[in-house]
This record gives sequence, structure tokens and C-alpha cells, in this order.
Amino acid sequence: MVEDQINLNLTHYRTPGTAGREDCVDYFVNKFKEIDENFTYILHNFTVLSINCQNVVFKLNEHLDNIVILAAHYDSRAKATKDPNIALRSDPVPGANDGASGCGALIELARVLYNQRLDLECQIWFLFFDAEDQGSDWDTGITGWNWCEGSTRFADNLEDYYDSSEYFDCMVLLDMVGGDNLQFINEQYSTSSLLQEIFEIGRQLGFEQAYPTNPISATITDDHVAFVERGIPSADLIINFWNNPSWSYHHTTHDDLSHISNHSLEITGKTIEQFIYNNYLQIPSNNYEGNYPWNSDINLIDTDILMMLITVISVIAVTTLSYTIYKKYMNKQNTKLKE
Ligand SMILES: [Zn+2]
Repeated sequence: MVEDQINLNLTHYRTPGTAGREDCVDYFVNKFKEIDENFTYILHNFTVLSINCQNVVFKLNEHLDNIVILAAHYDSRAKATKDPNIALRSDPVPGANDGASGCGALIELARVLYNQRLDLECQIWFLFFDAEDQGSDWDTGITGWNWCEGSTRFADNLEDYYDSSEYFDCMVLLDMVGGDNLQFINEQYSTSSLLQEIFEIGRQLGFEQAYPTNPISATITDDHVAFVERGIPSADLIINFWNNPSWSYHHTTHDDLSHISNHSLEITGKTIEQFIYNNYLQIPSNNYEGNYPWNSDINLIDTDILMMLITVISVIAVTTLSYTIYKKYMNKQNTKLKE
């Protein structure tokens, strides 16, 4: 399925505002209709700099109130801004891992979980975001575009897509989950109890390499952030893509099928499948106790708030210090005057 999305590239890349982008949504709709002709889906249209963009969400078990969102972005980056060959930096990124891998995993999960739907005690949204990947790498971005435009708009309009009896249990984002040498990081915007639970499940399944006990920690601006900010426990399954000899293809023309690993896709899919079964499969022997409801922990303080706190503390410290010095000086003056 990663290959299918890449094959759309033979005619067009999956960049916002192109026919390739539209073909990709048609492809998703066809895949879900193969699962069930009546699979409910909603298209969420929005524009960025007057370019038409589109998120798409497929809903399983709509009659249940508690919603689990499984998500990925499907747009591919318009410019290979990190390509080692400077001449290729205006070329589009194939986006085999950065985009197509997460979407491929979602389609396969939909197929597998659909077969278990009658025994699952949750509603599942399979959510495909447009316009995640068009922001700036240092100063070489795509003018006027920010990261995560699609998920931000979707989260802004979330009320339009569920009713008052429904609520969100969690959101799991899959980003770059199908490349060679898969190893996930401890992403810091993520709700830690949720991400930790997924890591533990992965390790229990024997995927110790992909879910290390001491993962690299980093804060990544990704499609889950808008959901974290709405109070929905969210986790980003993502790799180290910035300084990693084992994955040097990020935002280059080399993020293509030759670096996709079926085993990595399987690791991702199996882990999320098990996560759903552990928490939601209604079988008599299911005594699983994870970290549900996942929202008891506090996320890392947002950088902006942290900077504001540092500024406020600095101002208070400087003021107090100045006042103390001034007071000492005045005391001295007073003593001198008394003399
Ligand atoms: Zn990207």
C-alpha cells in the first residue's frame, strides 16, 4: 500500500493542490470501500494560501461513544529541502516513509480491525491529514506554509465531526513508521503514559529494537500537537529523522520505496493492533490493565510557556536585586547624613 501511494507519484506527487493529492484521497476511499462498501467517511476541506486542501476521516463502530483516533499525514513534501545534492532541493520528496508509510499502516489496520469490529468496545477514526509537511527546514521552506496545517484546521473544527454524547479516549499518530532500521523516540509533546504503554506493548511483542528501553527524547511539532492542546491524550510514533545515519533520507529525494521495510510496517501495525485489543477487545479473559485513561500525567511544559516563565522569574530577580542594592545604598546615605 505504500507502493500504491508512491505509484501515484508516477503521474503526480501527493503535494497540496495537485491532482496527485486528489488521486491519493480517491485511493483511500477505494481501499476503505473494498473493506466495506458503506464505510462512513467525511472529507474536511480547507484552504492554505487559497490552495484547496483536504483531510479525510473514516469511521468504524460509529454507534459507540468513545473514540480512538489513529492518524497519519498523506501529503508528500513539495521540496526536498535537505537533499545532499543542492541542485535537487527544489524537487519533490517521494515521501515513501514520510507520509505513505503511516497511511499504509492505517489502511491495513482498518482491514484487520474491521474484522474484529463487533468485539471492539470503541469507535475508531482512521484520519488522514493533508498539508502536514510543507513548513520550513531552516530558511528553505515553502513560502507561507506552516507545519501541520491540516491537523490544526481539523482540530479547530473538531466539533463538526462528533456529537455531544461522544468523547475522545486517545489519538495515536504514525509518522515515518515504515523505513529501514526502525527505532521510535520518546516524543515529548506526547502524553507520556500513552506513549509508554505503546512502547511496552511493542517490547512485549518482541520488537525491542524498535521500542528501546532508553529511547532518544525530543519534542517534535507534529499532527498530534493540536489534539494534545485540546486535552486529548495523544502519542506520536516517530523516529529520529534529524541526526541519524540509519535514516538519512528525511526531506530528500531518497525517501523512496528502496528504503521501506515491510518488517518495520509490520512492527508498527502489530503494535497498534495489540494496543487496541488490549484496551478494547471484549473477550472474557481480557484482564489487561494499561494506563487508561492516559490523561493523568502532565505533558512537558510548552516551550513558549517555559520561555515566559524564565522571563518573569528573571524580571522578578533583577527587580529584587536592584531594590536590595538601592536600599543598601540609601541606608549608607542615611548613615552618612546622620554622621
Ligand atoms: Zn516530513
